[in-house]
Amino acid sequence: MKRPRSAQRPFPWRCRQCGQREVALAKTSYDAEVRHDGRLHKFTIPDLELPVCRACGEEVFTEKVDAQVTDALREHLNLLTPAQIREAIKRVGMSQKDLAKCLGIAEATLSRWLCEVQIQSRSMDNLLRVFFGFPEVRAALCGGSQVSQLGLSDAVRTGCTD
Ligand SMILES: [Zn+2]
Repeated sequence: MKRPRSAQRPFPWRCRQCGQREVALAKTSYDAEVRHDGRLHKFTIPDLELPVCRACGEEVFTEKVDAQVTDALREHLNLLTPAQIREAIKRVGMSQKDLAKCLGIAEATLSRWLCEVQIQSRSMDNLLRVFFGFPEVRAALCGGSQVSQLGLSDAVRTGCTD
């Protein structure tokens, strides 16, 4: 059950299941099952902050709970966090628009990763890491016309410096 704005109200909340005002925030060990990248991932979140009814045990899933699950999934899969991506973009001195263009993705896609709306796939995470990790990759992918020869042999030089 989703109650998007309910996270703003002070506890305890009235329980939708039993009607008592007994829903309070509890730290719970939670076994998550989340689909990402076409696969179902199962992992345990040791200290999920989850509103639970002290009377009947009803668990209330809010946006805040979803965000914790998303963060835990990202950590479980060892994918770059939005903060790490932002930091890397800053470090290489590119705009989000230019980065999207070099990677061949829509600017809106990059924006969804950065705003925590969506987690990047493993393959896109790999591309980001390689892109941010190697100046030669950045030069090759941002170099323009010579990209047509990229990958057709080892160590193609684009003539660009980073
Ligand atoms: Zn209840």
